[in-house]
Amino acid sequence: MNPGKVIILSGPSGAGKGTIARHLLSREPRLSFSVSATSRAPRGDEQEGREYYFLTAGEFRRRADAGEFLEWEEVYDGLFYGTPRAEVERLWDRDRVALFDVDVVGGMNIKQVFGDDALAIFIRPPSLEVLRKRLVARGTDSPERVEQRLARAGRELAFVPRFDVAIVNDRLDDALARAERLVRDFLRDDA
Ligand code: 5GP
Repeated sequence: MNPGKVIILSGPSGAGKGTIARHLLSREPRLSFSVSATSRAPRGDEQEGREYYFLTAGEFRRRADAGEFLEWEEVYDGLFYGTPRAEVERLWDRDRVALFDVDVVGGMNIKQVFGDDALAIFIRPPSLEVLRKRLVARGTDSPERVEQRLARAGRELAFVPRFDVAIVNDRLDDALARAERLVRDFLRDDA
């Protein structure tokens, strides 16, 4: 197989990227999750090296300055997220296809690096109103934080045309099936 292929999942927070990522990982054995580094604190039962590599802001900066990230972003005020180059190499050494869950700017940057070897999928909510309801129902964000995420989501939607494909996450089952088909087709020649 071609060890150079990657799958990018991007889209507003709350659109369902995480759910779709977990589904794809459970259905497609060639995929492995690319674990990002972040300067935010662990949430819930998140574990070091599973969801993220958790770094202090200072350590994150040092690694960014040393060029250790393929891309990195200050996704929220004061919170940094980045894709370690070593992570992608680690997955390729194991003949895996890397799956990224990143914000839309990070997604576009990764697409630029890998070109046709990357399938860039934009996961979009049916509408901003539905997204608001989901963020409120999730209950992990304060009302101000929900408004911030919505404002950001509006700006992120402008990136849709730059992705290879967009999936509207209206009915989750349909979105999961569509994502699975797209990934299978993209990896078909590699069997
Ligand atoms: P959360 O804090 O909810 O886990 O993630 C916040 C946002 O950061 C999500 O949109 C997630 O996809 C994005 N993100 C996670 N890792 C990376 C990364 O390595 N690079 C970029 N650019 N965004 C990331």
